[in-house]
Amino acid sequence: MSSVTVSAPAKINLSLGVGPVRSDGFHALATVYQAVGLHDEVTARDADEVSVRVRAGSRLDVADVPTDDTNIAVRAALLLAEHHRVQRGVELTIDKTIPVAGGMAGGSADGAAALLACAGLWRLDTSVEELVELAAELGSDVPFALVGGTAIGSGRGEVVTPLMTRGEYWWVVVESERGLSTPAVYREFDALHAGSALGVPQLPDELMAALRGHDVAELGAALSNDLQAAALRLRPELATVLELGRLESAHGALVSGSGPSCLFLCEGRSHAVLVATGLSARGVGPVSYAPGPVHGARVTARTED
Ligand code: ATP
Repeated sequence: MSSVTVSAPAKINLSLGVGPVRSDGFHALATVYQAVGLHDEVTARDADEVSVRVRAGSRLDVADVPTDDTNIAVRAALLLAEHHRVQRGVELTIDKTIPVAGGMAGGSADGAAALLACAGLWRLDTSVEELVELAAELGSDVPFALVGGTAIGSGRGEVVTPLMTRGEYWWVVVESERGLSTPAVYREFDALHAGSALGVPQLPDELMAALRGHDVAELGAALSNDLQAAALRLRPELATVLELGRLESAHGALVSGSGPSCLFLCEGRSHAVLVATGLSARGVGPVSYAPGPVHGARVTARTED
């Protein structure tokens, strides 16, 4: 049986500027994305019907990941099939490493991976541009999961402009036992800003300068997330996690996207190991560390009949 396996990365937002609600109901965003070395894998195999199963190690709770056609990987396969008038099924297997509802766009990574895996399995004549367009229909963060690296996101996040940055960064990631619903965090954000007019979201100059200069301390000081206050209102205990990371000498600490995962910028790999070990010893967790930027979704294995 033929199969194609694709690996797709988690994303973090080095800055996340949230603007007013647009006429389509989405908030206008100005963000700097970075793909980090935590990956989900999607394998697409020939089948008559479309199906999905989700696997993960004991660390991850995947009970909330749907296995019907609301799973974003299934939506991706159906969208691609419709677009190319393909009348074939596919058996999708998702091997998850990215926390579920963790603010790291795990579902989006699965959608991007499924698009690429099905395009490979069905030997479709597609371009990256076409896949990016389809990705935007699936969700705001899906195009970035295809592109990877470090990039500016505008619109509702789906308009991705790659940034040519030097240098490698290391991040410590502290996950939470329970995920946070992205819509709930946006509702809290709206409640916090009720009555005040939100301006057009901007990219912070200091962040862009720190990226250009590859200055880790400056970057750490310039990290920002407009959703952080809302996430902290819903999970006050995350403030302690952020504080502990700073005490453990991280250069910067912030909530990832809509949370609840927390991110800590480190000097390099050995510093990340040190900070991760310190945080684990303080009982927060699960803790991992990962480099960024890494590439977007990529085929990692292929078998033929
Ligand atoms: P984002 O940062 O993009 O808002 P997130 O990382 O907080 O997303 P996800 O893990 O992408 O959250 O998933 C959010 C919800 O989407 C899950 O709770 C689940 O109900 C649904 N979902 C659908 N397909 C998937 C999938 N393949 N993997 C994970 N969740 C999925």
